[in-house]
Amino acid sequence: MTRPDCADVAAALLAPPDGGFRLADADPGARPFFADKSDAAASLKDDAKAIDRLQNALYAEREQALLVVLQGIDTAGKGGVIRTVFNDTGPRGVRVAPFGKPTDLELAHDYLWRVHQVVPPKGFIGVFDRSHYEDVLVVKVRNLAPADAVERRYDQINAFERHLSENGVTVLKFFLHISRDEQAKRLRARLENPDKHWKFNPGDIEERKLWDAYMEAYETALQRCSTPWAPWRVTPSDSKTRRNALIARVVRGTLENMSPRYPSPGWSPDDYVID
Ligand code: ATP
Repeated sequence: MTRPDCADVAAALLAPPDGGFRLADADPGARPFFADKSDAAASLKDDAKAIDRLQNALYAEREQALLVVLQGIDTAGKGGVIRTVFNDTGPRGVRVAPFGKPTDLELAHDYLWRVHQVVPPKGFIGVFDRSHYEDVLVVKVRNLAPADAVERRYDQINAFERHLSENGVTVLKFFLHISRDEQAKRLRARLENPDKHWKFNPGDIEERKLWDAYMEAYETALQRCSTPWAPWRVTPSDSKTRRNALIARVVRGTLENMSPRYPSPGWSPDDYVID
């Protein structure tokens, strides 16, 4: 099987850090690199194993952490990415932090308070299932904070992510980009398939009515917060297997570049005899 270079995938998905990203140029149905779905599935399987191996070294080294931010409209597949890309690594190495509606306690603090607490410690991979970006997405679309406060957040988020990156946390951000038609299909499947009823939330239909406002908010966030230290990657996500395979390639390549090293133990195996 031919497999694309991790660096090529990372470069192809990049939202340029010059503010020039346009959502209209990004096709959610695109199939870059993996024309053949079975190639995508094989690549994903292999990368998930490699990610597990690399996290093991990350844990032994305890010098750096990887933070993977997943954002996307309802049904875009954040859960599917977590399940497939990080399944082999398992709960010992990966910490998933979901971000739902803030509690009263969280609202009594600044919006980054709850975020900083769950940034992965050195040695771990952290996955944000939604993130601080909700504070410039749902909060903006639904006017949950004054417009001037939201406006200041883009720079604040960039400064926060820069702080993390200068303190041993590599930040990777993925926008799971699906089309409006694909979302309709996935929502209908939740209504039609009894095994998916539990996933159906009538609130998702209300959110869908605000599709254009959400897309505009996403475009602004990707223009203003794709930085050299924490770039956004726009992942075509109408095809689930290809979406997972692309993300796995980028995560694997990033971990390889972080190059975690097993520490030298300070003794030699010859020092010990086990009888
Ligand atoms: P998901 O759709 O992510 O699988 P869910 O619909 O089951 O999750 P939760 O995980 O409980 O629900 O919460 C997600 C909801 O919380 C989303 O509607 C999201 O927009 C909202 N949310 C997240 N952060 C904020 C925030 N800072 N302010 C307001 N709402 C937020």
